[in-house]
Amino acid sequence: MRFGGKVAIVTGGASGIGAAFARRVHAEGGAVMVADLDVGRGQALAAELGERAAFRPVDVADPAAMETLAADTAAAFGGIDILYNNAGIGCYGLTPDLAIEQWRRVVAVNLDAVFYGCRAVIPHLKARGGGAIVNTASASGLHADYGFTAYNAAKAGVINYTRSLAIDHARDNIRANAVCPGPVDTPILTSGVDAIPGLRAEWEQVVPAGRFARPEEIAAVAAFLASDDASAVTGAAIPVDGGLTAH
Ligand code: NAD
Repeated sequence: MRFGGKVAIVTGGASGIGAAFARRVHAEGGAVMVADLDVGRGQALAAELGERAAFRPVDVADPAAMETLAADTAAAFGGIDILYNNAGIGCYGLTPDLAIEQWRRVVAVNLDAVFYGCRAVIPHLKARGGGAIVNTASASGLHADYGFTAYNAAKAGVINYTRSLAIDHARDNIRANAVCPGPVDTPILTSGVDAIPGLRAEWEQVVPAGRFARPEEIAAVAAFLASDDASAVTGAAIPVDGGLTAH
């Protein structure tokens, strides 16, 4: 029961990695605020978890919505100990083909939102004497995936912003770490990959482990980083990628 008495916010919590994290933290005794654009799946997850869980419809790219999310969570559960900035969107397009609005939206959801979340929540973590921030970056933030121009840039930004948070707030007893997944079997990836015959097998070949990860495998590392088991870990960007970035 690593999260007994703890309160966590997870963005992008209605699906994939975020939902797996919510289930894990809840199963280990924590209270969970699920935030997502997807109202149907978010409400269903909160209902499945029952007590110590709630859902708020939030666009993470809206700074005012992130302030409201933090205030609502503290009001509902008595404070905030953990922030998991996990919501994200993909986007394929080489630079000349990428509309400026596409670039802006990818950076807004994948990078700006992490800042908005931390800005809103850090005062609440300080009020509890400290806490943990985990950000979902990507293997695409450690190396560059062909054609994922804006996504690569935003995820690399998340990694160095996480380091910045770690050094700025270490003396506040706040840790900040990033998980860097390789390909994971969730809709953000499979909606594109499975639309093209043979592409899944091709991508799986590129991963040394020979397969996509399950969302629970990423959530397990995020939960470790959010827990006191990682009490001396801050400023880390941990690949959870089946060896993808090892070569
Ligand atoms: P997913 O599609 O299952 O979940 C993403 C969730 O984010 C969805 O529920 C979606 O509604 C939500 N979301 C999207 N935009 C939002 C917004 N503006 N406000 C609030 N919620 C929003 O995919 P996932 O794999 O669980 O993705 C989680 C994170 O993992 C993302 O940051 C993604 O970039 C990252 N990631 C995924 C992979 C992969 O292969 N699946 C690899 C590396 C990194």
